[in-house]
Amino acid sequence: GSSVETLEFQAETRQLLRLVIHSIYSNKDIFLRELISNASDALDKLRLESLTDSDLAADTSDLHIALEVDPDARTLTVRDNGIGMSRDELVDLIGTIAKSGTAGLLEKIKESKDAAAAQSLIGQFGVGFYSAFMVADRVTLRTRRAGGEAGTRWESDGEGTYELQAVDGLPVGTSVTLHLKPADSEDGLADYLAEWKIRQIVKQYSDFIRWPIRMATERTDAEGATTRETDTLNSMKALWARPRSEVTEAEYHEFYQQISHDWLEPAATVHMRAEGTFEYEALLFIPAQAPFDLFSRETKRGVQLYVKRVFIMDDCEALMPNYLRFVKGVVDAHDLSLNVSREILQQDRQIRGVRRRLVKKVLGAIKEMQTKDAERYATLWSQFGRVLKEGLIEDADSTDALLELVSAASTHDPEGTTTLRAYVERMKDGQDAIYYLTGETRAMVENSPHMEAFAAKGYEVLILTDPVDEVWVEQVQAFDGHRLQSIAKGQVDLDEPADGDDQDAGAEKARREQDFAALLQWLTAALSEQVKQVRLSSRLTTSAACIVGDAHDMTPTLEKMYRAMGQ
Ligand code: ADP
Ligand code: MG
Repeated sequence: GSSVETLEFQAETRQLLRLVIHSIYSNKDIFLRELISNASDALDKLRLESLTDSDLAADTSDLHIALEVDPDARTLTVRDNGIGMSRDELVDLIGTIAKSGTAGLLEKIKESKDAAAAQSLIGQFGVGFYSAFMVADRVTLRTRRAGGEAGTRWESDGEGTYELQAVDGLPVGTSVTLHLKPADSEDGLADYLAEWKIRQIVKQYSDFIRWPIRMATERTDAEGATTRETDTLNSMKALWARPRSEVTEAEYHEFYQQISHDWLEPAATVHMRAEGTFEYEALLFIPAQAPFDLFSRETKRGVQLYVKRVFIMDDCEALMPNYLRFVKGVVDAHDLSLNVSREILQQDRQIRGVRRRLVKKVLGAIKEMQTKDAERYATLWSQFGRVLKEGLIEDADSTDALLELVSAASTHDPEGTTTLRAYVERMKDGQDAIYYLTGETRAMVENSPHMEAFAAKGYEVLILTDPVDEVWVEQVQAFDGHRLQSIAKGQVDLDEPADGDDQDAGAEKARREQDFAALLQWLTAALSEQVKQVRLSSRLTTSAACIVGDAHDMTPTLEKMYRAMGQ
């Protein structure tokens, strides 16, 4: 063959390699994700180039990725018949880190004392190809550019230098051969020669890659006969990447089952694509039934993040607020590094924009159900209403949208529920507030002495019995310009004297207060440990007395809630 050249890695590359090999990654499995992702990009590029350049003599009839294991040599090879690299491209792309800002970033990584900080910094650029050195002590890459004559062999142990050699007879495309380090579970090094392990990693990270990922497998049957066949390891079915009009309900359902392990059909599906400066696709589902652990502290958010069909992480909290933790699905962002970390996502302005948009879409889908199919909406609210109301506390941007969705029991209908909108439409002339009473159960609230005057006057009162109700009514304060008023707090005067009666009513009130002054004084003194004040009220019709909170006091349920939380 031709002569072997030895070249030095660029200084920054050497530093990065050292970081990759020693320490940063606890999850070594991701090397395969990186190599498959590169192969997939190379196949995309070849297809595109063959479409735009009719002179390019390239065979695109069977674009695919092949994984090959050689147990004797202890090698794993990732091969593609994609675009390949010329010698110069190889030196540029693999031998140097062209990305701007890399040097500065490496400085910071070196200075950062703890591993977590380093990891978070490293997530700002792709480790990509170099991750091969986490699992291999030597890597051989053979490549030939489509349309190019000669092929090139590149080899390195990832220390300071790499070898280059021109080679004849290579097919178009690239193969990366990893000379694997011995398996070492303490070091997070699995047996990457094992078929099951390879299958597992492909399934987890690369299942939706659009090109087939093939592997030769051997099966030995009961009679001891071995058969060889080639398996495709990935499903390739990234539903979210297809136009909505081309996906059937059955396919959505199947996909939902696959990611949620829920056998019921989802209650609603949101499928969207965003174009422009930050491209992404999202396919989200609202389940029909709440999971049993919806209110446990460990409940994870149900949205997975992909980058160009490569799985990055589960329960991506940066993409979905806590109160929408029941939403399941996938977001595929095109312009993120495969190594992006949770910390970086949390700080990313564009990701925050994506999250806002997704929240809007999900709440919009619920709103649509409310308008179009009241019965299904009622079921949905019974499953997720309590969680959605947490949004009234967490997410000020969505208050208006959430208030439109709130459904509550009310004195208007002994069985059913009402929306705030419907309540407002029924409000009496001159009624300026939306009245509510909180309590533990509907029956307890209905039988409360506070209700009497309101029932007598025919005012509707909302019956709020979820613990979270106590909190959001305080936070929100008003709907559509109407105050939310607890009938158990402060002075709720139903007998606002009309003009003209003013003096009479005032005189009547003064007279009654005088009549009862001695009793009130005695009661206030006798109950001084229990209440702040005893006063005459016009709010009762049949009960003799009731306990009223100060306008800014906690309600009894809220007090109980805080006490239960140990505060
Ligand atoms: P990234 O994929 O983020 O660009 P990598 O380190 O994974 O970073 O790869 C560096 C570059 O090397 C790629 O951008 C690509 O141009 C080239 N490359 C890597 N693997 C292949 C491959 N299998 N075929 C063609 N080019 C490749
Ligand atoms: Mg890459």
